[in-house]
Amino acid sequence: MPIARGYAATDASKPLTPFTFERRDPNADDVVIDIKYAGICHSDIHTVRNEWKNAVYPIVPGHEIAGVVSAVGANVTKFKVGDHVGVGCFVDSCVGCATRDLDNEQYMPGLVGTYNSVDRDGKTATQGGYSDSIVVKEDYVLSIPGNLPLDASAPLLCAGITLYSPLKHWNAGPGKKVAIVGMGGLGHMGVKLGAAMGADITVLSQSLSKKEDGLKLGAKEYYATSDASTFEKLAGTFDLILCTVSAEIDWNAYLNLLKVNGAMVLLGIPENPVPVHAFSLVPARRTLAGSMIGSIKETQEMLDFCGEHNIVSEIEKINIQDVNEAYERVLKSDVRYRFVIDIASLAA
Ligand code: NAP
Ligand code: ZN
Repeated sequence: MPIARGYAATDASKPLTPFTFERRDPNADDVVIDIKYAGICHSDIHTVRNEWKNAVYPIVPGHEIAGVVSAVGANVTKFKVGDHVGVGCFVDSCVGCATRDLDNEQYMPGLVGTYNSVDRDGKTATQGGYSDSIVVKEDYVLSIPGNLPLDASAPLLCAGITLYSPLKHWNAGPGKKVAIVGMGGLGHMGVKLGAAMGADITVLSQSLSKKEDGLKLGAKEYYATSDASTFEKLAGTFDLILCTVSAEIDWNAYLNLLKVNGAMVLLGIPENPVPVHAFSLVPARRTLAGSMIGSIKETQEMLDFCGEHNIVSEIEKINIQDVNEAYERVLKSDVRYRFVIDIASLAA
């Protein structure tokens, strides 16, 4: 079995440390990838700290993977050695399931997560992208457009698709007023993608400290949610609100910013139940919804869209030895706007 090197969490309270492990032997339908870059998603932190109560250690996190194909199995037709490829949040799904729906694959039972999941053999733990190589079935490998730099493309594989999918589903485009709550890894991708789709984007951030960046990335307006007058000024304004915050916020205050028939979509995942008053929804036929990543098909569509519009993430590149410090900075909203691990640093 191929040996991989990476960084892993061994329990909820310890820092990530170097870890060597076995990848499965590649099958005829597998692609072997030399990982070059891995984005740090806030979900990595929720998972390794067991905030979602589902952690099985050791965990090598990382589901924003960008790399180069180093080998392909005999039956692989879509990829060849040297191709620039990505791997996102899942590496398999319920292929034999009668209700399988490729347009909504991410919501099907039997999804196999890129890490902290059990592979299709029923016993091997999947391990993610903070490592030097990965073996993935061809159908779960994405093609990264040649004009996009690999490092800044890595975050497209989770942050990018997580915003692209609801923007498309709720028809963001010309004439639509869309608010992005939280100018972090997910949020800044929402600004870029929503603006490229032609929607009128407003950022709702805790403060105005990132206002200049937000406007530069394509937002028309930028408001501080710490200023109570924001909620009076913007009442009844938006067709769509995409909320990337996982902290406890006043959901009713945000719902009140929607127009009649508007929708607020939860992308961030707070630890506690979301308290919502019926009056925030009923008198304006508003919807409160959720959305999770996107299918493989839609992820490829998003990558092609990014290729056409030259969209990548704003990144801070780090060495893998600095991953624990990076986690602390993400928790303080102190990242512009996604950390990406340069996997070459593993060899240092
Ligand atoms: P992130 O980079 O930490 O961004 C979150 C943003 O939330 C911060 O930049 C900050 O923006 C805002 N924020 C932080 N603390 C806040 C507070 N106390 N009150 C109000 N706003 C606060 O994280 P991320 O990687 O974008 O992920 C965000 C969430 O989405 C996480 O819960 C993650 O697990 C989840 N997620 C969901 C999916 C999905 O498929 N639905 C996919 C990936 C991640 P400002 O500084 O601008 O206020
Ligand atoms: Zn993620």
